[in-house]
Amino acid sequence: MSDAGYPKPVPVPADPELTKPFWEAAKRHELLIPRCGACDRFFFYPRHTCPHCLSRDWTWEPASGQGRVYSFTLVRRPADPSFMDDVPYAYAVVELDEGPRMVTGIVDCPLEAIEIDMPVQVRFDDVTPEWTLVKFAPA
Ligand SMILES: [Zn+2]
Repeated sequence: MSDAGYPKPVPVPADPELTKPFWEAAKRHELLIPRCGACDRFFFYPRHTCPHCLSRDWTWEPASGQGRVYSFTLVRRPADPSFMDDVPYAYAVVELDEGPRMVTGIVDCPLEAIEIDMPVQVRFDDVTPEWTLVKFAPA
């Protein structure tokens, strides 16, 4: 899939069929994450087998959108040129209340105010007509 022609091209998923429900939900401003039907645990990133018990029996379930900053760094030179206009920005790992950790961005917050363990809540950034990115802001 190409984003050619839009003001901000973004990298696209490596396995679009596997992650399609996640991206479709994000466009609706809903956060879905995989939950295993065998061991009942949530996990993220999406993958074909549960990382806890290796079951392939999992479904997409709504997440609360609440979590805490597990780790972060401030990016001044993005690895992908698509994000050059955004620098400096906060690249973070957020631990969701459901357990899994998600690589994301922290927004609506001065960069110097971001702290480890800060409570955050999901935000949806409609970066192109096709793609919405999942980010987090102070709760
Ligand atoms: Zn499992």
